[in-house]
Amino acid sequence: ACPPAAQVRQAFLRFFQEQHGHRLVPSAPVRPRGDPGLLFVNAGMNQFKPIFLGTAHPQSELVQYQRVVNSQKCVRAGGKHNDLDDVGRDVYHHTFFEMLGNWSFGDYFKEKACGMAWELLTQVYEISKDRLYVTYFGGDALLGLSPDEESRDIWLSLGVPPSHVLPFPLKENFWEMGETGPCGPCTEIHYDHVGGGRHAAALVNQDNPDVVEIWNLVFMQYSREVDGSLRSLPQHHVDTGMGLERLVTVLQSKHSNYDTDLFTPILDSTLPPLKHLLSCSPLHRAAGALVTRAWWGGADIGSVNMAYRVVADHVRTLSVCIADGVYPGMSGAELVLRRILRRAVRFCTEVLHAPPGFLASLVPAVVEVLGDAYPELRKNTDQIMTIINDNEAAFLSSLLRGRRIIDRTLQQIGPSKFFPTEVAWSLHGNLGFPLDLIDLMVEEKGIQLDWATLGQLAQKDRKTRTQQAEQLEGSVARLDVHSLAQLQRDGVPATDDSPKYAYTI
Ligand code: ATP
Ligand code: MG
Ligand code: MG
Ligand code: MG
Repeated sequence: ACPPAAQVRQAFLRFFQEQHGHRLVPSAPVRPRGDPGLLFVNAGMNQFKPIFLGTAHPQSELVQYQRVVNSQKCVRAGGKHNDLDDVGRDVYHHTFFEMLGNWSFGDYFKEKACGMAWELLTQVYEISKDRLYVTYFGGDALLGLSPDEESRDIWLSLGVPPSHVLPFPLKENFWEMGETGPCGPCTEIHYDHVGGGRHAAALVNQDNPDVVEIWNLVFMQYSREVDGSLRSLPQHHVDTGMGLERLVTVLQSKHSNYDTDLFTPILDSTLPPLKHLLSCSPLHRAAGALVTRAWWGGADIGSVNMAYRVVADHVRTLSVCIADGVYPGMSGAELVLRRILRRAVRFCTEVLHAPPGFLASLVPAVVEVLGDAYPELRKNTDQIMTIINDNEAAFLSSLLRGRRIIDRTLQQIGPSKFFPTEVAWSLHGNLGFPLDLIDLMVEEKGIQLDWATLGQLAQKDRKTRTQQAEQLEGSVARLDVHSLAQLQRDGVPATDDSPKYAYTI
């Protein structure tokens, strides 16, 4: 059996709705509401945060339900969860993905949550038990946190063999919303794509494409106080999230998310515009067949494969974001989207040798795949294509000029480890090249960006701009409030964990 993705999504929602009394809540838009710390909605729980924090308005519709199910549009690019760098390099991290989730707000807890998850996976979806591994929180002696033996025992009682129940430390299996607030242990389910009694347990959480995390079940039972201590919450909550693309890959017996029907229509629609290349370039012809399998199959035909994956991923993200009113722009989420668009255009142009308009021509396939689940895509198809085309046109001539500069520089520096920082900085400042894009372009030639020096430059630049802003503030009256705000916005470091991106402003 090879259930279509739409059926897999539907089965999840129905299972919780019809068999277990959950209320179906529609996906929130990817632009977060009332959460200034967040660039994009990056998990199903985002829209329920006020319930966990106890700040939800008593008349809000949300507080009426104790059991909720949903499939949420998520974007993990920029900000705390930044998966942009993994996209295309592996076959299971996307910038846009759908998170299936079920919630208990002060209702059921660990036993029922694990029981339902196991029932759904093994009986409804009929996944073979010996391919599944579960992890639980193994405790933290330093912080005085005991292991979550409760979860472990629940899994064992559900029939998971002891060798498939694995303890993991705080970093992996203890979830916290922020510095303070609701938190608790989590238990995660992983799928072994290969099977056959290898040492799959050792590959859990190793970022190995053979054993992939599919579902995270978080048990919120504590609140982290300002003094760092943990207080037991009066109400216990469950918050779960499963990546639809990864689940569909399992159910369609594939090894790569790009081989499922969530991606194949998009990849197929790349073929007609590239037909002339398929017939003359062996690289493209090979990619046509292998586009999604390079990672695990070991067939390395270089960046062509990666380019197909990146483009298919990025056009989904662009479509979903634009349909939700996030357009490529100059700050915050808009800037991240601009970075994504420019990366996509670069791969289309330089690696796939696609004609202008190619990226937008893939949008109808995205709408075909996702339009039933998210009708806003259907409603805004023309606008999505126009915005992509306009932004592509604005970048194409800079891209050509930048490529010439990069090639000339590479010739001049000869055998060197690093790309000259001043050149990168000027491409960034004058031609609007995102730094991560320059990184990709020189990496293909075996050269790196010197991120440390770039970081210093960026900091110096920020200081100058802050000084300029202060001067403005001192001397100019009301009309400049706008430009001042703009300068300050530009000067604010990105809310990124990874130091590498802290200055890609
Ligand atoms: P990973 O360790 O693979 O990066 P995660 O632990 O960061 O995943 P969670 O925050 O636990 O992910 O999110 C819940 C689920 O959402 C994951 O188990 C996975 O199925 C899915 N998921 C997370 N990030 C992505 C992504 N970038 N693309 C596709 N699916 C994802
Ligand atoms: Mg992750
Ligand atoms: Mg993980
Ligand atoms: Mg996880």
